[in-house]
Amino acid sequence: MSDFGDRATSGGSVVLPGGTRLDAALDGVRLRALAAALLALGIFWIDSFTSFHSAIATLYAVVLLLAGARLDRRQLVGWSLACAALTIASFVIVHRNAPSTEAALRLLVSLAANAVTTALLLHRIVLDQRVAREERRYATMTDTLAIAIWEHDFSCVDAAIQGLRACGVTDLRAYLRAHPEFVAHIRRQVRITDVNQTALDMMGVASKAAFFRKLGDFLPETDASFAECILAIDERRPMFQAETQVIAADGSPIDIIVAFSLAPGTCLAQVPGSILDIRQRKRLETTIERTRIELERVQRTAAIGAMSASIAHEINQPISAVQSYADSAARWLARPEPNLDEVRLSLAGLNQAVANIHAVVQRVRSLVGGSQCDMQPLGLGSLVADTLAIAARDLDAHGARIHVAPLGEPTVVGDRILLKHLLLNLITNALQAMEGAGMAEKRLDLSLHARDDHVLLLLRDHGPGLAPEIAEPFETFVTTKPGGMGLGLSICRSIVELHDGRIALSNHPDGGALAAIELPLAA
Ligand code: ADP
Repeated sequence: MSDFGDRATSGGSVVLPGGTRLDAALDGVRLRALAAALLALGIFWIDSFTSFHSAIATLYAVVLLLAGARLDRRQLVGWSLACAALTIASFVIVHRNAPSTEAALRLLVSLAANAVTTALLLHRIVLDQRVAREERRYATMTDTLAIAIWEHDFSCVDAAIQGLRACGVTDLRAYLRAHPEFVAHIRRQVRITDVNQTALDMMGVASKAAFFRKLGDFLPETDASFAECILAIDERRPMFQAETQVIAADGSPIDIIVAFSLAPGTCLAQVPGSILDIRQRKRLETTIERTRIELERVQRTAAIGAMSASIAHEINQPISAVQSYADSAARWLARPEPNLDEVRLSLAGLNQAVANIHAVVQRVRSLVGGSQCDMQPLGLGSLVADTLAIAARDLDAHGARIHVAPLGEPTVVGDRILLKHLLLNLITNALQAMEGAGMAEKRLDLSLHARDDHVLLLLRDHGPGLAPEIAEPFETFVTTKPGGMGLGLSICRSIVELHDGRIALSNHPDGGALAAIELPLAA
């Protein structure tokens, strides 16, 4: 990433890394070569035509250093051989008639200096090539990263912090909070010195040269992350991470997470930061939130629907009772000699049935709405007896009889009305099953069995048993009846679960269906 400046043409000239123009760089090389050549000629002249008898030819090393700055290997070796040739030529010119050992030694020292300088410069060329290769590798690596990389120059932030400290500011956080204009000013000073290809793609910028050069150019004025970034620089935090927004070239905001390291020893003029585009994640979060709200709405609607359906289902039975009490009162009144005592009895039953309807509506509402029920310790034997009294008319109407084993009075903690309706629902289902199958003898068996810490209520009918297509009878809206709603058993299960109990419905080995309810005994 060190070659930030793309090879971009500017005013007809190619711009090199670091922003130097190619023609200017070439002029520099030519100028150095000219100066080196002139120096070489000067040395040659002094060495050959003056009486300056010292190892002046060692200065050819300076010629090589001057010329060798941007040479490749072949060119450098060429310059080295030329300098050696000039050294030998001077020796021949001066000493061809009387060569001395001293002169020969000077020649050898000069040639050795030339060789050592050449070797060092060749080594530097190898190192330069290696560095260039590594830089290219690094650039390729960062350009192909899926994450955007920006290199920041934070040195101005450090300078500004030092300035504040010199003015006596000790609580930097409080100062930044009180001076947002200072934060905005520093933000405008921070330069972006390098970016990778992913950053260009993310920001919708065609080339690095066209990329924004100051942080303030693409952070929105409302950005709140930069103050924390100043503090992180001040504290030289090993890791700084923030969620913010940047403005792309087309003006659209991009949600990002930026992270960089500011550990001690970090060069603040070149802090590479990784930037993760989180628009996709944000979009997903928004969609999930919208779906959640939608789901809640649907659930509320479904709960209201379920409540209405449950109420309709649960009051069916008491409504038929109201109907039959009213009919019976009317019949007693229609007699030539109305029997007012019977009428009074029927009206009392009717009153009781209406009260039942109120209670059922109330309980179903609390069941569906999840509110508290009226939980009391109650004797299960009496509760079963009360329920059977309510169901007596229904049983009569279906010509069914119920055989009840001695019940006892095991105590459970429960809601009297809900438990009664649980039992009534099961009795109604049993009667309907036997009626639907056209059973000549409609019989039910009910028994209570107190165990260690729970009581088991068994209700068996002598109907056809569960239809084979019913895999899970307690599921809502599962029904085999033409006008059925498939809610009764699911309400039964809700009631039992509300009492920390369990319920099962299965086929009895000797025929019919067997409902088993297990309820915990009161402590
Ligand atoms: P619904 O009575 O409206 O059908 P339920 O939830 O009370 O709804 O019952 C679901 C289904 O379970 C019934 O349609 C019936 O097929 C089956 N079922 C329930 N009780 C009995 C039973 N005692 N004998 C046979 N099948 C039963």
